[in-house]
Amino acid sequence: MATNHPHCPHCGEPMLRWTNPQSSTWDGEFQYVCFSDECPYYARGWAWMESHYHVAASYRYRLDPATGGHGPLPVWSPQALRNDIIPDAEEAMHGR
Ligand SMILES: [Zn+2]
Repeated sequence: MATNHPHCPHCGEPMLRWTNPQSSTWDGEFQYVCFSDECPYYARGWAWMESHYHVAASYRYRLDPATGGHGPLPVWSPQALRNDIIPDAEEAMHGR
């Protein structure tokens, strides 16, 4: 199946669309987020957050298709934020 999802520059996996939180200041309906648990960006985030902030958390790579901006999206568990992933079946509702 062909998709036009961007690939994560850190692990090469296709990034998933993730619904922007209602309270966020981001424009647009969704961003692309790498939800691969093998992603080195995410995998090394646990140790980084532990050593710098003494918290059990990490972050996933995020790309805003509206602005091209990107950066870390904080997560507190491997399951965190997955409820807001947009399945490909809903592409017609959110895509353009
Ligand atoms: Zn990745």
